[in-house]
Amino acid sequence: MIIIMSKDVSEDQIGAVVKKIQDLGHEVNISRGTKRIVIGAIGDESKLDPELFDTMPGVEYSMHIVKQYKIVSRESHRQDSVIDVRGIPIGGKQVQIIGGPCSVETQEQMDLAAQQVAAAGCRLMRGGAFKPRTSPYTFQGKGVDGLGIFRKAADKYHLPIVTELMDVRMLDTFLEHDVDVIQIGTRNMQNFDLLKEVGRINKPVILKRGLSATISEWLMAAEYIAAGGNHNIIFCERGIRTFETAYRNVLDVTCVPVLKRETHLPVIIDPSHAGGKAWMVPALARAAIAAGADGLLVEMHPNPCEAWCDADQALNPIELKELMGTLKGIAEIIGRTL
Ligand code: PEP
Ligand code: MN
Repeated sequence: MIIIMSKDVSEDQIGAVVKKIQDLGHEVNISRGTKRIVIGAIGDESKLDPELFDTMPGVEYSMHIVKQYKIVSRESHRQDSVIDVRGIPIGGKQVQIIGGPCSVETQEQMDLAAQQVAAAGCRLMRGGAFKPRTSPYTFQGKGVDGLGIFRKAADKYHLPIVTELMDVRMLDTFLEHDVDVIQIGTRNMQNFDLLKEVGRINKPVILKRGLSATISEWLMAAEYIAAGGNHNIIFCERGIRTFETAYRNVLDVTCVPVLKRETHLPVIIDPSHAGGKAWMVPALARAAIAAGADGLLVEMHPNPCEAWCDADQALNPIELKELMGTLKGIAEIIGRTL
């Protein structure tokens, strides 16, 4: 950590900072410039916090010099990590498209959706049994019954299932249903207790980006999971909230190269919740794959007009199949497969 002081501070003020650093068990290095004095605290940075110094007389500011996210950082692991989901790699050369409805509705709907997702060429399926809805009066998901329905439908086509965990009390139930990938939704990206709990198991976790989360906050959220021992984390950008109202959210494609630089973990994109309209999904999906995303989370419903949730943004089965064809071409141009 470095502590910056103005060059006009007294020797007593410098001495107080030095003493605090030493009392915390660190070595000190003082560099006196023409305008500023920079005091370096040398040792394990995790024991230091800028708050310890920022209020001291004469201190302008202090900052960490190593990143606060360690396990998930590219610095700690140079190669790309590939997450194995029942034999399906996420983060390798092969791009994975996870298709399925916003929510689990009925056994018939999920049976049909699973058949269509598999026929389109997707290797994993999505579907929410617990839905985080803005209004408490709208459909909240089928709950535990939905997990059973989903499992049954997906198993017939050997599709691993991706579904959202909202409440830590449901974790055992998710494990009993052998959910293959646990999705942590946007609204829970900083639910630290939930992150800690999924950090203690070894199931892959899709960590969606918070509505207004910075990249750094998102990486720190992933670090919460990783710190517990679970390194099977997949980042998912799903659009962020900005001043723009013409679409549901703004898809931040820029996060793909940035995350690829900052972390070794896979990055996927959800074009459905970004655009919020089915007609926008193909364009956003193409951009995502071209930008280097490792996969997509796409909403597809057997009959979008009748979807119980997010009807406007669901592709129909034909649109999903067409999109898969286009994405295959893009993937190949950039040296990947689909
Ligand atoms: C979802 O994937 O169904 C969902 C609710 O997503 P988000 O958390 O991105 O809103
Ligand atoms: Mn949805």
